[in-house]
Amino acid sequence: MAAKKGRVFSGARPTGRQHLGNYLGAIRNYVALQEAYDCIYCIVDLHALTTLKDTDHLREWTYEMALDWLAAGIEPDRGTILFVQSHVPQVTELHTILSMVTPLGWLTRLPTFKEKVRQHPDNVNYGLVGYPVLMAADITLYKANTVPVGVDQASHLEFTREIVRRFNHHFGEVLVEPQAQYTDFPKVLGIDGRRKMSKSLDNHIEIAASPEEIERRVMQMVTDPARRYRSDPGRPEVCNVFTLHRFFSPDQVAQIEEDCRAAEIGCVECKRLFARNLADYFAPFRQRRAALAADPDRVWEILADGARRASAIASEVIAEVKEAVGLPSAR
Ligand code: SF4
Repeated sequence: MAAKKGRVFSGARPTGRQHLGNYLGAIRNYVALQEAYDCIYCIVDLHALTTLKDTDHLREWTYEMALDWLAAGIEPDRGTILFVQSHVPQVTELHTILSMVTPLGWLTRLPTFKEKVRQHPDNVNYGLVGYPVLMAADITLYKANTVPVGVDQASHLEFTREIVRRFNHHFGEVLVEPQAQYTDFPKVLGIDGRRKMSKSLDNHIEIAASPEEIERRVMQMVTDPARRYRSDPGRPEVCNVFTLHRFFSPDQVAQIEEDCRAAEIGCVECKRLFARNLADYFAPFRQRRAALAADPDRVWEILADGARRASAIASEVIAEVKEAVGLPSAR
């Protein structure tokens, strides 16, 4: 077996069943990275607490998300570590230590912080300010050298790199400065055709949806808004259905483009075709998911095993960090 290129870390908040945007923007890449890297994937439940919404669903959404990731091809049997952030509490220790080298001004100036303040003016809590520091702790606790990110998240990773540089400048070369590995899929729009696909906007299509549900959601998709009649030529370049056809209908996409421009295909027919291809694409996924869901304890065991393996790495790194900063060891 070829030597791995390094260690990947990535995390995502528990949002329950995953949608096409999650799949195309992240999960697909997570699966592919397992070939060349040692991968650590984390469901970041502590991060989810910063906005204090929907905490009633945290367990259920953690489980559903793990189920989707596993069924999509995250393979702990091949060495990948999949775990829940709060199951490895060393991350909160490292968060505290890193917070001491992070100037407050760096945090309050971040556009993401300003945006959160705008969204949640009644709950600007301490955790929200420190969110990027916790994220830096997530990554550096495992000495990950590679982090898959979308172009829009590049600034988050840059922030982690700055904290690492500052820490290492003060205490020696202990932490690893991670590099970005950019995902190639552009932002996935929701069925409204305007905004990023998101569960909270209810404009999403779940990857675990049944073929009937997929068809129902696809038929609601907004297409070329200027194409009002079947006889109007369409503009595939502005149509979200077409964008997704590129991925899910690779053999038909050239014909669809031609037919759309010539008004040889109607949007209803085009969407039916897309719904069928989408349902077919995820058929093996649905089968694997159903098999896993038949034994929920097994999913929790996989997560517990992942936490044990993550913890073994975390314990070594946190010991190095404490030594470097001069904290006395317990006897
Ligand atoms: S025919 Fe297809 S690609 Fe063309 S506008 Fe309609 S849905 Fe979009």
